[in-house]
Amino acid sequence: MFDINNLIRENIKKVKPYVSARDEYKGIEGVFLDANENGLGSVVGNNYNRYPDPRQLLLKEKLGSLKKISPNQIFIGNGSDEAIDLLFRALCVPAVDNVITMPPTYGMYEVSASINDVKVIEVPLTSDFEIRPEAVLAAINKFTKIIFICSPNNPTGNSLDEKNIIKIIEGFSGIVVLDEAYIDFASNQSFVTMLHKFPNLTIMQTFSKAWGMASLRVGMAFASPSIIEVLTKIKPPYNISGATQDFAIKALDQILVKEKMVMEILNERQNLAEKLSQLKIVKKVYPSDANFLLVKFINGNSTYNYLIEKKVITRDRSKIILCEDALRITVGTKNENETLIKALQQMN
Ligand SMILES: *Cc1c(COP(=O)(O)O)cnc(C)c1O
Repeated sequence: MFDINNLIRENIKKVKPYVSARDEYKGIEGVFLDANENGLGSVVGNNYNRYPDPRQLLLKEKLGSLKKISPNQIFIGNGSDEAIDLLFRALCVPAVDNVITMPPTYGMYEVSASINDVKVIEVPLTSDFEIRPEAVLAAINKFTKIIFICSPNNPTGNSLDEKNIIKIIEGFSGIVVLDEAYIDFASNQSFVTMLHKFPNLTIMQTFSKAWGMASLRVGMAFASPSIIEVLTKIKPPYNISGATQDFAIKALDQILVKEKMVMEILNERQNLAEKLSQLKIVKKVYPSDANFLLVKFINGNSTYNYLIEKKVITRDRSKIILCEDALRITVGTKNENETLIKALQQMN
């Protein structure tokens, strides 16, 4: 039923991908005179004089066994943003096609859409930040290629209702992107185990949050092999550096370290939420399934500016739909959170 070929742009279908030297010969040993590298070595050591594996196979095999999916269901990107951008380029004809988002949500979907000259149809969340599947399905037209769902959602922090998400996936013949950047902090399960049921589902996760590797820029997309094939075909050949692949592979041996950090952040999230709720200037601390809290103040923007003066930087979301007077506050270390609370206690 679902066939990615019905969605892909005509020019993309015709693209013959760049074939790198390392695509043609897969052996590890040999005299490599094929890629104009510096055979003498690298000025910074390691094997950095050699081009990295363009398919990131070792990383995908390791990640595949962790997520219980096959390597051909995995795309690795230079951050999640790369996968988002590649989906736009693969599917959306500029100035013709459109995508659907559910604000308030992650800003990159819209940025990527405008860079690619793709229209965004917005179907806002309800006042308690739940998606409206019927309204979303009613907003689809024949030029709608992608629907973006973010769960747990940024900046609201809540996980979205699973049944509502499924209604959208099942009711749409285009691609549904489910952004699970914050899934490690959530009480509900990832949709990865349901991937086989939904050929049009693309799940995004990232090494930037729970794994603590934002600087390295590693995002993941999980989907049916036919979707992954398209992304792989149009990506820059060496989009993930060798050093980054090495670190990501190492990270997968440190799952317990990640889980311990997640536990600590969840504890701190609870502490911080309680302390914030006790402040007179706080009107509401929204429930969070992520590593941040959305907090409604009596005056969001002036609180934001006051905190800046105190060198405490938060994210001002007070001008965003349904987030009036709200700041998004990342859960920091115990010390950082105490500094924030002290500063807010002193505010008059
Ligand atoms: C932080 C975040 C990401 C991660 O982006 P990277 O490019 O992988 O660092 C993706 N989606 C959402 C909603 C985020 O908040």
